Amino acid sequence: MSIYLDHAATTPMFPAAIDQMCSFLQAHDANPSSPHAAGRRSRRAIDDARDAVAAFARCRSSEVVFTSGGTEADNLAIEGAGANGVVVVSSIEHHAVLEPALRRGARIVPVTAEGLVDLDALRAALDRDVSLVSVMGANNEVGTVQPLAAVVSLVRELAPRALVHTDAVQSLPWCVDSGSAECDLVSISAHKFGGPMGVGALIVRESASARLAPILRGGGQEGGLRAGTENVAGIVATGVAAKIWRNEQESIVERVRALRDQLESTLVGIGATPRSPRSTRVASIAPLHFPGVATEELLIALDRDGVAASAGAACVSGAQEPSHVLLAMGYLPSEVEGSIRLSLGWSTTAQEVADASEIIRGALESLRRA
Ligand code: PLP
Repeated sequence: MSIYLDHAATTPMFPAAIDQMCSFLQAHDANPSSPHAAGRRSRRAIDDARDAVAAFARCRSSEVVFTSGGTEADNLAIEGAGANGVVVVSSIEHHAVLEPALRRGARIVPVTAEGLVDLDALRAALDRDVSLVSVMGANNEVGTVQPLAAVVSLVRELAPRALVHTDAVQSLPWCVDSGSAECDLVSISAHKFGGPMGVGALIVRESASARLAPILRGGGQEGGLRAGTENVAGIVATGVAAKIWRNEQESIVERVRALRDQLESTLVGIGATPRSPRSTRVASIAPLHFPGVATEELLIALDRDGVAASAGAACVSGAQEPSHVLLAMGYLPSEVEGSIRLSLGWSTTAQEVADASEIIRGALESLRRA
């Protein structure tokens, strides 16, 4: 038996998306930039997927720039729009935003103890020299949904030259109104909503496109903003996933929220403490602290007993660094020990939640006895 509770790292593809991706690969269709009939078929397949992604992201089809994933979308936003001025980001951004921002000497805005961007500190960081502000829609480790509407209105008032970017990789699937509609640039990633790994998009509002420079140069694909032959099969599958998620979003969110609440309440009943308030969190994430156990030992015990969970972001959990998100929220490195992230998804069942609760209870008991 294996119970997968790491959907924030990646969630399974929808079977219909896998079918379409395989069919596309088997048909061996042509390069979408080729002028012949087969090439035109590939181009149409991309355009159909673009329409589906646009409906999912509540934007125009012409605003969707396909990339190799959320990381590339974030890099494109920061490198492509941050060059001509000061970059401002929150301290709990994903490394795909933080790393390029730090390279540009960004101003880092702290968050509150609840993991919400500190609006007074943001106000103080804004001025006419700022060219880009990036605040994520929802945090991937503690799940906090950021006050994007307030962020955008502060930026428009105090940094009128700046573009606003949001990394909506974790928020768009889970928040019916993610607040990203007011942002100029929005990053999304297909493998967080039932599409394949290795496909994402940066939504570039028409009003912002002239102020974004490409980071990959070569062919003129994606309106000149992202050179390189498109991953057509992956994009086709992303379109299928976007359509399914858009149609079923409310029911997925409500079902997952109920399962997450049940799991979290059971674990709180045996001594776990949530790392962020549930009321300001996406429906899928339970960031929990278990006193008296080491994170790594707990994750190893759960893995052995058939529960896949993680300490936080997939890309850093292997590195055993204390989470920069929890540190930014004011926890000491010693207090971060014992924290894990359980994240549920569209395929999670009530039986899995019940079984996982028992397995976690058992693992805790045996670790504390040892
Ligand atoms: N941004 C956030 C908030 C994420 O959670 C992730 C992935 O975990 C990324 C960006 C990177 O996306 P990708 O894995 O598609 O590169």
